[in-house]
Amino acid sequence: MIPQVKLRSGQQMPCIGLGTFGSDRYGPLAVAQAVRLAIRLGYRLIDCASVYGNEAEVGSVLAEARNSGVSREELFITSKVWNDSHTPADVLLSCARTLKDLRLDELDLYLIHWPFRNFHPRGAAPDYHNPDAGPYRHEQYMETWYQMERLQQAGLVRQIGTSNMTIRKMQSLLRDCRIMPSANEMELHPTLQQPELFSFCVEHGIQPIGFSPLGSPARPERDRTPQDIVDMEHPIVQEIARRHMLHPAQVCLKWAVRRGQVPIPFSVKEGQLKANLDAITGDPLSDAEMSELATVDSGNR
Ligand code: NDP
Repeated sequence: MIPQVKLRSGQQMPCIGLGTFGSDRYGPLAVAQAVRLAIRLGYRLIDCASVYGNEAEVGSVLAEARNSGVSREELFITSKVWNDSHTPADVLLSCARTLKDLRLDELDLYLIHWPFRNFHPRGAAPDYHNPDAGPYRHEQYMETWYQMERLQQAGLVRQIGTSNMTIRKMQSLLRDCRIMPSANEMELHPTLQQPELFSFCVEHGIQPIGFSPLGSPARPERDRTPQDIVDMEHPIVQEIARRHMLHPAQVCLKWAVRRGQVPIPFSVKEGQLKANLDAITGDPLSDAEMSELATVDSGNR
């Protein structure tokens, strides 16, 4: 059984999950196959989003898992409303579509994927500019948030939360919300530790969920800067891995869990799925190793 973290409502959440943002590279069926393997190996938290374009495929695997004895209560399913669906009517429609695709009556956690309404339509050219794109506006964000609150009140989602936020945006949200966010999903790996935002979330009882916990090694070149260091190639990560005879990916995940964030690594490979799960059940990193890894942060997104 995977150790759990407790959310502000008292609901438990597995301390590691599976990401599902891989359909562009592997296709929705391969991602669904990864979810099938992961559930068989013991994963119970699945991080989904409508924009990943694979919720229907993931949903059929979730149904299959329930038919073979994995109860709904054991599973923790997250999804996210995309940037093109922030208007009040669209939030409800988007959640309804996600529930239908995932074949669920209720999500465990529903997040606002990004705090902006900006988006590129699927297949848009790299230089496409959305004429409706605009800067962050708090009133607009709250309009979306109040719809999220309604979804929780209506029993369609158990918890609501945020993603890709800053401390300032969080402060404004906490001032004006009626229901507090339970979790904030943010990019977190050894070379991007976001210590201030991380501490802010913890101090306010908001569970940090770490996306790209291995530093997203497969991300396209265009999304990298020359200063980018691949986490798994960092000498300190590699040295700790050697010391414990672990894969560097496992060091990143042990670091995440010991710090108190929930990592959601993505993989379609059985060996990697298993190694990632093993990482969090084995011995934790020591205080000294956590201090060593604190120096790896480059603040580079
Ligand atoms: P990760 O850091 O999880 O990296 C994923 C890549 O790491 C995989 O493609 C895989 O490579 C490789 N990998 C996985 N396990 C191992 C291992 N044990 N050893 C070696 N390599 C390994 O990055 P992602 O960007 O995919 O993020 C994970 C999840 O976070 C996403 O799937 C999504 O659910 C979520 N996310 C959320 C965002 C948000 O805005 N809220 C933004 C981005 C991600 P390979 O494919 O070559 O096997």
